[in-house]
Amino acid sequence: MFKSLISITRTPPHPGRENIAAAVRRAVTLAGGLPEAVRPGAMVLLKPNLVEIPFTRESGAVTHPEVCRAVAEMVRERGARPVIADAAGIGSDTEAVISFMGYDGLRRDGFTVLDLKKERSLWVDNPAAAVLPRIRVYEAALSADLIINLPVMKTHDQTEITLSLKNLKGLLDDCSKKAMHRQDLFHGIPELAAFLKPSFTVLDGIYAQEGVGPVYGDPVEMDLVLAGRDMVALDTIAGLIMGYRPGEVPTTRLAARAGLGTADPDKIEVAGLPWESVRRRFKRASESEIIKEAPPASLRIDGGTCSGCRNTVISVLVELKARGRWDLLEDRVIVTGGPPGGDLPAEELLVGNCARRHDHNDKNFIAGCPPENSWIIGALLKLAR
Ligand code: SF4
Repeated sequence: MFKSLISITRTPPHPGRENIAAAVRRAVTLAGGLPEAVRPGAMVLLKPNLVEIPFTRESGAVTHPEVCRAVAEMVRERGARPVIADAAGIGSDTEAVISFMGYDGLRRDGFTVLDLKKERSLWVDNPAAAVLPRIRVYEAALSADLIINLPVMKTHDQTEITLSLKNLKGLLDDCSKKAMHRQDLFHGIPELAAFLKPSFTVLDGIYAQEGVGPVYGDPVEMDLVLAGRDMVALDTIAGLIMGYRPGEVPTTRLAARAGLGTADPDKIEVAGLPWESVRRRFKRASESEIIKEAPPASLRIDGGTCSGCRNTVISVLVELKARGRWDLLEDRVIVTGGPPGGDLPAEELLVGNCARRHDHNDKNFIAGCPPENSWIIGALLKLAR
């Protein structure tokens, strides 16, 4: 039986450059080596996760620059040209993340590190997609000979985990990112992955993140590096390490159903460390204690609400608390899920497409499946004016 090959290696605690390079090289070798297409003259786009300025460099929110450096050096050794590139989350400043995380050190050492928000993006057709058949993608991703995906291991407030599949959303410009949130993030991600088809993935599991990721979660030092060509298999094994059963994560399940790879552990060969030997259950976003801290807003999370909107609201509470802005929640009513019954104040926020009501003034309706956290915070700021 054909099996997808995934590797797992480990660094020592608090690893330095040499330790990380050694773990990355071993992981890549155990996973069969870089693809043949990494050849002289090829342009190889390396896609880290530069979502947002984290609390600390070791918060597990952003791909470690030394993981990027190690892969970029391997690409160069094959005579190809590595281009490290990403766009931060909607409304966030990629250059600020580059500088905070030390990616500008890679620039000083002669590597190209692009803030994609300053680069050209193009409208392209994705005819096989039902959610976004037309998307605006950064030209660097379209013109690359191949993409090597460099996500970081973390939980996510909307999609449970963000690993190989979810990381690719950074290659869409903000307007298509927003459109994906507005329509259907869960189906949109596998459709984007099918379009971009990264050739190889190196997952940074050195400093990981649990709880209300992808930015404000709690750091977990795992000291792991995973690698492989099958991103669905890689997300399956990384998910198992983090305590998620196969099939439990919608994006992985849907990607497997779309034929992008296997989510069946029996069809995955793991080289290096057995995944069972490094597993550690990650606290989920839904297990956040923040609701018990009695935020000054009334939350009406309808029984029909899925984890997408439920965890988005939890994540908004965490973010506002971190910013010292719980005052924005005072006397607000936040509703998710099915149309609410009974009288609600005029100033409630209806969050997510499931909460749309036809008999109500929709000025406080925030569309999305699920909506971006920043849209909810923006609406709360507007109400406070
Ligand atoms: S809009 Fe509905 S289906 Fe979509 S994330 Fe929210 S609750 Fe889930």
